[in-house]
This record gives sequence, structure tokens and C-alpha cells, in this order.
Amino acid sequence: MYFEKVAIVGVGLIGGSFSLALKQNKLCRQVVGAGRSAANLDEARARGAIDAIEREPGAAARGADLVLVAAPVAQFEKIFLAIAPQLKPDCLVMDAGSTKRDVVEAARRALGAKLAQFVPSHPIAGAEKSGAAAASAALFRGKRVVLTPLAENAPAMLEKAAAVWGACGARVSRMAPEEHDAVFAAVSHLPHLLAYALVNDIASRPEAAQLFGYAAGGFRDFTRIASSHPEMWRDICTANRDRLLQELARFGAQLEKIGKILRDADAKALEKLFTDARAARERWLNGEYE
Ligand code: NAD
Repeated sequence: MYFEKVAIVGVGLIGGSFSLALKQNKLCRQVVGAGRSAANLDEARARGAIDAIEREPGAAARGADLVLVAAPVAQFEKIFLAIAPQLKPDCLVMDAGSTKRDVVEAARRALGAKLAQFVPSHPIAGAEKSGAAAASAALFRGKRVVLTPLAENAPAMLEKAAAVWGACGARVSRMAPEEHDAVFAAVSHLPHLLAYALVNDIASRPEAAQLFGYAAGGFRDFTRIASSHPEMWRDICTANRDRLLQELARFGAQLEKIGKILRDADAKALEKLFTDARAARERWLNGEYE
């Protein structure tokens, strides 16, 4: 597997890391980046993540053998429309978007006859940092990548997509877009919403300076992901809002339950809840669900 020309649209943390991983594994000759911020693209080139810069996604995709779309998900339809006329018939197109139903719908509307070349993908690797400056060739190593294949995808395209992510060190699995969005609403999107909400609530109080002054490791761990990119999370939460609202309702019921336990001063029930949660987290940390 070798790509003469790779195009990355959105050369941030994910796009830049993908490119660095391909280069480290000598899987491509040239990477062309397109994006919205000239300063970030310059940074990407300075770091060796890309070799050349194009202003427009279509120009970057022209003649490419592999295109990765790694901008915030609300940008995808516009990008798909721009690249569609430029795609060679054997060019593999993938995305890195954190939501999948909206991405698949955007691809269906925008890619036309090129739809079969698009293999939706979501690397389950990331960080609260963004931009090419944070990119790392090792980001996907040992991490999962979920493909949500289309019925139109040729098996060879799917195999190529899985092989590229595998070459970046990732473990590849497959899901339907609906299942994907339900799973990640629960274990990724809800936690981000909660972290943002907690920080915002503390910051909005008159005594915020005192509260932050005494906040320590637990607060830092719980809220790390509230440093994530606001635009990216705006788009994810908007795209997956129906699933996220279901998760919020579940979580609200859980808080109600804890509220009742506290009102009842039911120390036994509280300890059981904490014991169960700690045991579940340990099973997860020990890799029992891999
Ligand atoms: P990032 O902010 O680091 O990079 C996104 C890049 O896209 C930026 O450089 C931005 O300038 C560029 N961009 C924005 N609009 C554009 C447009 N219209 N055309 C071209 N470029 C545009 O974000 P990231 O963390 O790399 O996330 C990229 C994608 O990967 C998102 O869809 C996100 O949902 C997904 N993702 C992120 C993570 C994570 O933890 N950060 C994990 C998995 C998937």
C-alpha cells in the first residue's frame, strides 16, 4: 500500500497526526494540506506534516490517491461538494468526524457518483489540544478506529481504509452509523457536556476566584476535556443532539437517584453506588471490555 498523493482537508490534531503517521511509515510520497487557517497550515508544513498547501479543498484533492477530511463536522458537506468533481475513480476518501449519521447524510447529498469511494471513519483517539502544533505520529497507536461502511462501498475500498488505519497503529472495527452515534453520545459526548457545564457553573458564581483557587487534582481530571475545541464540540453536540438528549435524561435520573440517597442520608446505598462504580471502572481499566 503506497499513496503517491495524499490530501488532508483540515490539518489539525487529527489530520496532522494522520499525515505524520503515514509519513513515518513511508506510506506516501506527498501530502497536500488545505484548511481555513494559514498560520496552522504553515505550522503543519514546518512540522513536516504536509509538503504543500492549497487554499481550496478541491485543489488539494485533485489527483490525490487518498483524501482525509478532518475539519469540524459541520464543514463536511461544503468540503465534500468541493472535492467531489476532483476525485479520481480509485481515490479513497475518508473522514475523521466524531459523529456519523450526519456525516453519512452529508456525503450522500454531496458526493454523488463518488459516494462509493467514501469510507466513513472515526479514530477514537484525540486530546483536548487542537491544531497541527499538537499533532503526533503516535496518536492512533493502540487506539480504536470505527468504520461505518456504506452499502455502496466496494470491499476493496473498505479493506484499503482498514489497512491505512491499521498501518497508523490502530485497531479497526465496524458499526452502523446509528449504533456509533448512540455509543459515543454515552461515553464521549455526554462527558464533554458535563465537563463544560461544571466549569461554566463554577466560573459564573460571584466567588469563582475562590473556588478555582482551591480546585485541585480531582477537578483538573474531571474537567480536562472542557479545554477541548469549542467549535468542534458545538458541531458534535448539535449533530448528535437527539442521542445526547437521551443521555442527558438518563444522567438526570441518576442524579435524582443520588439526590434521594443524600436526602435520606442513606450511607449504605451511597457506599454501594460508589463501590459498584469503582469496580466497573476497574474492569474497564483492566481491559475487560476490549
Ligand atoms: P482541530 O481543531 O485540531 O483541527 C481542525 C482543522 O480543520 C483546523 O486546522 C481548522 O482550521 C480546519 N478547518 C476548519 N474548517 C475548515 C474548512 N471549512 N475547510 C478546511 N479546513 C477547515 O480539530 P481535530 O481535533 O483535529 O478534529 C478534526 C475532526 O476530527 C473533527 O471532525 C472531530 O470531530 C474529529 N475528531 C476529533 C478528536 C479529538 O479528540 N480532537 C477525536 C476523534 C475525531
